[in-house]
Amino acid sequence: MAAARCPVCGRPVAPAARPFCSRRCAEVDLGRWLTGQYVLPGSPVGEADDPAPDGAEVPDGTVPFPAGRRLDRGSGMG
Ligand SMILES: [Zn+2]
Repeated sequence: MAAARCPVCGRPVAPAARPFCSRRCAEVDLGRWLTGQYVLPGSPVGEADDPAPDGAEVPDGTVPFPAGRRLDRGSGMG
């Protein structure tokens, strides 16, 4: 992909202010959004169902108890 350009002024995008060339342009863009000057280019209104990220992952964990029920009652206490 070619180097992205600032959507506000067209200058090369600065990594620290992506996707803009500077924070100033970022604020300008934000202002446009807030004032409603931006209009999405023919984007259909609708909810896109994106898959929910499953972040329950154990890298190398050890389970303290085995997968099962441990006896909790009915034990013979002497
Ligand atoms: Zn800019």
